[in-house]
Amino acid sequence: MFSLPFEQGPIRPVDEADSLLIRTTRGCPWNRCSFCSLYDTMKFSIRPVAEIKQDIWAAKDYFGGHPFDTCFLQDGDSFVMRTKDLIEILETLNKAFPSLRQISSYGRAQTMVKKSPQAIKEICDAGLNKLYCGMESGSLEVLEKIRKGITPESIIKSARMARQAGMHTTQFIILGLGGTELPDTHALETARVFNEINPDHIRVLTIGIKPGTDLDRQMTQGEWTRPSEAAMIAEQRLLLEHIDGIDSHYANHHSVDLLLEIRGQLPGDQQRLLGIMDRFLSLSESRQINFILGRRLGYYRTLDDQAREPDFLFVEKQVQKALASGHGSLEDIFHHLRTQVI
Ligand code: SF4
Repeated sequence: MFSLPFEQGPIRPVDEADSLLIRTTRGCPWNRCSFCSLYDTMKFSIRPVAEIKQDIWAAKDYFGGHPFDTCFLQDGDSFVMRTKDLIEILETLNKAFPSLRQISSYGRAQTMVKKSPQAIKEICDAGLNKLYCGMESGSLEVLEKIRKGITPESIIKSARMARQAGMHTTQFIILGLGGTELPDTHALETARVFNEINPDHIRVLTIGIKPGTDLDRQMTQGEWTRPSEAAMIAEQRLLLEHIDGIDSHYANHHSVDLLLEIRGQLPGDQQRLLGIMDRFLSLSESRQINFILGRRLGYYRTLDDQAREPDFLFVEKQVQKALASGHGSLEDIFHHLRTQVI
């Protein structure tokens, strides 16, 4: 089997598709979130500095001097490294790839707040100038329920430290994470945190429950109820409506999201993005179902695509087949299709 002469982790953010990937840690130092099975079978470790540096030079040889301008440090949290070790890695990266203008990493809020603002500034000055943070929600209640192990306070403090140091910040949230039990709390508290930290980028994902996760168990036992696709758009509408006074770039950008056309710069595009959600929410129930299935099966990308009559009629037939299939409710089928892309 083909393998690269340097180690690679399992994931990277969507926005890092063209980046050089260098692995500093294996797995996630937390590994307890109720919805996540990504690193279930992987014991967390920080890779030795000498080994990472060897990988950087091996990558340089392998790519033959390719002028990468972005690099992403895998896996779950490079900030868990000792500051001086992380800086040594960043300096080596910049020596090996002098064309780099951006180096990014995931950073857990709870890890970052253990470092001083000065340490975060030194890390940024050494080249790690973009932070990805999976805050998931701004609600303490939701964060506790999903066992995220971070708090709104630590999200705000770490994001402020990163911005003050000069880092670009991207915050990920997950629609539907509060279940049908806490949709408003999830939306309103998340908007409140965004308004406090003004991230450069807000990236919205949609919940899909992986079999075997704790969230799956909670759902089976009736402790958490999966919201419908339309309910999650309504939740997102409430969130966006309460975002105020910030200038983040806001996007639904993963194929797990229903309305991929929700993408724009705040505050200028806020009303346009709300209008897209309103347009979906004002469709009749049967047209919503047609759109959701067509989108989930890949026939539609935007709401306008539903106007293509042959596609609309074809999707209608798929709706009838889905209803007759005996594979659960339409929402079960939509959810199943969502989980295929995460
Ligand atoms: S969601 Fe992120 S922090 Fe939580 S267990 Fe998965 S990788 Fe770790």
